[in-house]
Amino acid sequence: MCLFCKIINKEIPSEVVLENENFLAFHDINPKAPVHVLAIPKIHVDSFNEVDPELMSSMTKFIQELAKEMNIDKDGYRVITNVGNNGAQEVKHLHFHIVGGAKLKWGHFSDSNPKANI
Ligand code: AMP
Repeated sequence: MCLFCKIINKEIPSEVVLENENFLAFHDINPKAPVHVLAIPKIHVDSFNEVDPELMSSMTKFIQELAKEMNIDKDGYRVITNVGNNGAQEVKHLHFHIVGGAKLKWGHFSDSNPKANI
């Protein structure tokens, strides 16, 4: 069973901030900003690459609700999902990072030349 399935099953503790029948949101253990929570579906999906667009529809609503719950909806925030090896996805269970609570930076994503393919 994957790490986040264990969190869903409460086999591993987490700091839950929002939950419904289909989704769970909890604080990232290694926050990168004053607000950094993870939103996950309760069914196991490896990544965004495999997700059913219908599930994404209700997940979008959940993330919007989560942003309100964390009080970052008015000032703005970032929604990130890492996919696979090049996306630097560590946990192979679909998750969205919801990051905010301060003005975020936008930097280089890789050491490769960003214009190499132009
Ligand atoms: P990613 O690199 O997109 O797969 O992100 C995985 C995220 O899960 C990282 O930001 C980790 O800090 C976070 N993480 C790993 N283990 C836990 C845990 N037990 N509870 C909360 N967050 C975790």
